[in-house]
Amino acid sequence: MKERRNTMQKELTYDAVLHYPGHPSADDVYKVISSRYKSISKATVYRNLATLCEEGKIGRVIPTDGWEARFDHRTEEHAHAVCTFCGNVFDVDVSYDKNIFSKAVCMEDGFIITSHELIFEGICRDCREKEKENGTERIKD
Ligand SMILES: [Zn+2]
Ligand SMILES: [Zn+2]
Repeated sequence: MKERRNTMQKELTYDAVLHYPGHPSADDVYKVISSRYKSISKATVYRNLATLCEEGKIGRVIPTDGWEARFDHRTEEHAHAVCTFCGNVFDVDVSYDKNIFSKAVCMEDGFIITSHELIFEGICRDCREKEKENGTERIKD
């Protein structure tokens, strides 16, 4: 019984990430699930997210600047843009030849690449508009 419950909770977690528009934080995912299934705990959702990442069923983006990790239903390689003001994560559909990077990195003697990530940092449109309204633009285009 316990096993079936665990499987169901994992499915729910996967489903929530799959249907979330964009890149949810663990808390976003928890909110979606707990709105329908009150009995699920935050710890369970967090644990399932970690397992799904390990299994390669979902991706994880870890922004810098202390923003919490975001999850991703897209598992194929793609680049991300992170807003350093609000921590939002966006997909960047740019194709690049990762072999160019790999060659450079492997010039470092004996280094083997096991994974890589391409993250652009900047300010999202919403944050820029808010700043424009407040007249507090820190970065202009
Ligand atoms: Zn932003
Ligand atoms: Zn993504």
